Amino acid sequence: MNASANSSDAVRHVVVVGSGMVGHRFVELAAAIPGVAITVFGEEPRTAYDRVHLSEYFAGASAGRSFS
Ligand SMILES: Cc1cc2nc3c(=O)[nH]c(=O)nc-3n(C[C@H](O)[C@H](O)[C@H](O)COP(=O)(O)OP(=O)(O)OC[C@H]3O[C@@H](n4cnc5c(N)ncnc54)[C@H](O)[C@@H]3O)c2cc1C
Repeated sequence: MNASANSSDAVRHVVVVGSGMVGHRFVELAAAIPGVAITVFGEEPRTAYDRVHLSEYFAGASAGRSFS
């Protein structure tokens, strides 16, 4: 392991594949860590959304938490 890998100010690059609920929550937590760079690859043409409350949303109730 080289010196830069041990340095506390080294940038860590995290790649997340999939921009769903779990991926989004992971990115939220990882983004709060100093020195972490994040790249997300998602196949959906929209940002992550709360699928769990999708039925409520279409029933006209609150969609709950929005990620966008
Ligand atoms: C209509 C509906 C109602 C639901 N209701 C409930 C409920 O009431 N309660 C409950 O607990 N759960 C419910 N669920 C299930 C809940 O939505 C899932 O458990 C939850 O979405 C799982 O989150 P996830 O991030 O693991 O996966 P996902 O939300 O499936 O996200 C994975 C993401 O990764 C992307 N992806 C996959 N492979 C690749 C790739 N190779 N490259 C790039 N991107 C990729 C996908 O396109 C997707 O955007 C419901 C689901 C649906 C569809």
